[in-house]
Amino acid sequence: MTESPVNIPVYDGSLASVRSSSSSVDRLRQITGLSRRKAELQPKWKNGELESKYRCSSCNNYLRFPIQFEVCGHHVCSSCLPDIMRIASRCPTCQQPIAKDKIVNDKDLEKEIQNLEVYCTNKEKGCDWFGILRNFPVHIETCGFILIDCLNECGAKFERRFLNKHQNEDCTKRTITCEFCKTSILFENEISHLNICPEFKIPCPNQCSTQEFSRQQIQNHLDNECSKQEISCPFHDCGCEYRANRTIITQHIKDSSGIHLNMAGKTISIQKQLLTLYEERSNEQKKWIELLARKINALEKTYGSQFIWKIDHYQERLQDARTNIKSTLFSPQFLTSRYGYRLALSICLWGDGKLKGKYVSLFICIHRGEYDSLLVWPFSHRVTFTLLDQCEDVNNCRHITCTIKPNICQENKPFLGRPITERNASFGCPKFIDMDTMTKFNYVKDDTIFIKVEVDNEEMIFI
Ligand SMILES: [Zn+2]
Ligand SMILES: [Zn+2]
Ligand SMILES: [Zn+2]
Ligand SMILES: [Zn+2]
Ligand SMILES: [Zn+2]
Ligand SMILES: [Zn+2]
Ligand SMILES: [Zn+2]
Repeated sequence: MTESPVNIPVYDGSLASVRSSSSSVDRLRQITGLSRRKAELQPKWKNGELESKYRCSSCNNYLRFPIQFEVCGHHVCSSCLPDIMRIASRCPTCQQPIAKDKIVNDKDLEKEIQNLEVYCTNKEKGCDWFGILRNFPVHIETCGFILIDCLNECGAKFERRFLNKHQNEDCTKRTITCEFCKTSILFENEISHLNICPEFKIPCPNQCSTQEFSRQQIQNHLDNECSKQEISCPFHDCGCEYRANRTIITQHIKDSSGIHLNMAGKTISIQKQLLTLYEERSNEQKKWIELLARKINALEKTYGSQFIWKIDHYQERLQDARTNIKSTLFSPQFLTSRYGYRLALSICLWGDGKLKGKYVSLFICIHRGEYDSLLVWPFSHRVTFTLLDQCEDVNNCRHITCTIKPNICQENKPFLGRPITERNASFGCPKFIDMDTMTKFNYVKDDTIFIKVEVDNEEMIFI
C-alpha cells in the first residue's frame, strides 16, 4: 500500500484566509500544480485516453496519492492540495468550500490508478515496454529512448541506448591515453599534447641516422652522441677556435696534439700568474681588514656603549653599607654613545632589602638627558653587567656577568620610558653576586673593585 506524503490531519488551513474568484484559481492552476507536474514524463494509457475519474481537476494529470473532499466527493492529488487550500479553499471541480478537517486519503483509488496498464512514453520511438503504472517510474530510469546529456559535458544529448558509444568513441571530450607517455588527456587536446609530449618520437634534426628519439632524449643525443652535431674543440678554453661536427673534431684532436699541448702549457702558465696575483691581493685585503678591526675596536672603547665603574675604599664602603650609614652607592653618569641615553649605576654592597648580607645588588637607571627627544623610547637595549676579575694572567680571569633584556610593557614605563623627572626608577640584578664570591679570586684587589656595563647597540639608532 502506497502511503501519502501529505499528513492531512495536521494540514495547516490557517493560511487559507485569501478568498479569490474561480478565474484566478484557473490561472493559478496553470502556473502552480499543472506546471509542476507537467515536467514529469507521462505514460501512454493502454486505452488511449485516461478516464476523467482518475484525473486531477487541479493539475489535469493522473491522480497521485488522491485526496477526497467529503463535502462533494471530488478528488485532487495530495501535492495539489496545499495550493488549493492557500488560494481559495474551494473544490476546483464544483467550487464548494472545503473544510480542512473534511478531507481524506483515498487509498483504494490510489491502488486502482497504480494498477492501470500503460505503455512507455517513448512507444512511438520504439520502446516496447508495457506494464502497470506503479512500475513505470522504474522503467524510465533505464529506458534506452530517454534523452540524456553527455556525461563528459560536451553539450550533446543522446538517447540512453547510444550514449555509451558516443562517450567512449565519438565524444570530443572523452578521455584517451597518450600512446607515447601514457598520461590521460582529452581527445580534443591530442594534437596540442603531441607537440609537447616528452615521449613523442622525433628524428635527429641533423639526420645522422634513421633512428628516432623521444623528445626528452634529443638534447642529450645532440650534446653527447650525434656525429653530425657541430661542436667546439675541447681545447677551446686554451684558445683553439676550431669548430666542426663531432666526427671531424675527433680527427682534429688526433691531428693537433702538439698544438693543443702547447696551448695548454701557455694557459697553465697564465693561470699560475693570475693565482699569484690574487694571493697577493688577498693578503693585502687581509691586512686592511685587520687594521680596520683595530680601529673599530679603539673607536668602540672611546665612543662605545660601555662604562667601567671603579669603586675604591671597598672595605670602608662595605662597612658603611653593613651599618646602614650609606647602603647605596651611585656611579657617575655616562652616555651610551656621544648623543645617546644618559645612564648611571647604583650598587648595594651589602645587598638590597631582604637580600642584605646575602647578595651584592646592582642596578641601572635612566637619567634625563639633553638628547632624549631624539632617542627611541621606551629604552629596549640589552644591558650586561660584569664584575671584573683583576687576575694578572689575562687568560685566566674569571669575570662574572649578568645580562638583562628590558621587557617593554606599560607597567615598565617608570623604568624604561622617557624620564619626566631627573631620573627614572632603577632596574637590574638584585642578586648580582653571592656575598661569599666577593672574597674569592681577585674581584677585590688593592681595596678596589671594577664593574663594567655594556649596552647592546645592535639595534640602536645613532644620531
Ligand atoms: Zn493534481
Ligand atoms: Zn467538488
Ligand atoms: Zn521506454
Ligand atoms: Zn560527449
Ligand atoms: Zn604523451
Ligand atoms: Zn643526430
Ligand atoms: Zn682544437
